[in-house]
Amino acid sequence: MLLLTPGPTAVPEKIRVAMSEPTIHHRTPEFSEILRQTREKLKKIFGLDEVLLLSSSGTGAMEACVTNFCHKKALSINAGKFGERFGKIVQAFGSELVELKYEWNTPAKVTDVENTLQQNSDIDALFIQICESAGGLRHPVEEIAKKAKEINPNIVVVADGITAVGVEKIDVSYIDVLISGSQKAFMLPPGLSMVGLSRFAIEKIESKSFGYYFNLATELKKQRQNTTAWTATTTLIIGLNAMLDEILDIGLDNFYEITKKRGKATLEALKSIGFEIYPKTPAIAMNTVYNKKADEIRKVLKDKYKVNIAGGQDHLKGNLFRINNMGIIKPYETIWVLNALELILDEMGEREFDGMAGKIFSEVYFKNDI
Ligand SMILES: *Cc1c(COP(=O)(O)O)cnc(C)c1O
Repeated sequence: MLLLTPGPTAVPEKIRVAMSEPTIHHRTPEFSEILRQTREKLKKIFGLDEVLLLSSSGTGAMEACVTNFCHKKALSINAGKFGERFGKIVQAFGSELVELKYEWNTPAKVTDVENTLQQNSDIDALFIQICESAGGLRHPVEEIAKKAKEINPNIVVVADGITAVGVEKIDVSYIDVLISGSQKAFMLPPGLSMVGLSRFAIEKIESKSFGYYFNLATELKKQRQNTTAWTATTTLIIGLNAMLDEILDIGLDNFYEITKKRGKATLEALKSIGFEIYPKTPAIAMNTVYNKKADEIRKVLKDKYKVNIAGGQDHLKGNLFRINNMGIIKPYETIWVLNALELILDEMGEREFDGMAGKIFSEVYFKNDI
């Protein structure tokens, strides 16, 4: 089975092998060295002063950022499941919430954020997804972050980059906190999350520490000493260290360029066989198609062609399919999915098979400079 869901992503063999060694104790010089190396490499990828590793899925890091950075009132951008989640966490911890809601295919508007922040000077943190994975939507996070800081220099801008870090180069000039997780572009099993911190964010957590397990001040102190506050997810961190070597060997810019090219080639191929792209501003991390027969298509794709892609959630259940574009994916894997989708359209009597999807993918991927 080819796993091409936008999280979890397939774990490469080399990484699985790296994680198959006997468990080492987390309070040893051997593990401290691995943790040190891993954090150094992550800092390069995040472009921030610090990156903390937490033992949780991505939502744990989202919660840690809400509790450590929002003490009064939050502004949350909700254009899908993950944006909605930030709002729910804020409410669970009793802070006030202002939410800007958008349809799942529609990016947040800078002017909406501007107006909201002007009317609410007591908002201390802004939460936004870089890519809202529910609809494969890219928000204009960089412009929103810049505007937010212009209006309120004391606001903490928290960007959920779980489907953006390791996918594209993110301009962190105005981003204070950048969240990521193991099971997306880093191609690891789920269970490890990452929180990148700017100097401003570090000052914030050092001036007011909050919580216990997800206390970022405690974690920062420990991880600066090359250890973790609690038992580390040693196996996942060993896997991450190996995966970061893979990415850095390819070269970060090159890796982003390949990801972008493959995403664009997939998008054009899908359009060429008549599929409707759902988001108005598609993210690079995944290709999302709006189709009334999405679940039927996914079922045939899985049963007959042995490819697992993701569907839609909530009001879009049954109407979306999402193909992963994060991590190391061979072009022949993507071509295989596109070819299978084209065959399925033929079987359903929607469009006669002529190999168009594979042709367009190959042309864009191998022939064009984008
Ligand atoms: C996957 C994902 C998360 C994290 O979800 P977990 O299931 O807790 O790992 C958060 N935000 C976005 C945008 C995601 O794609």
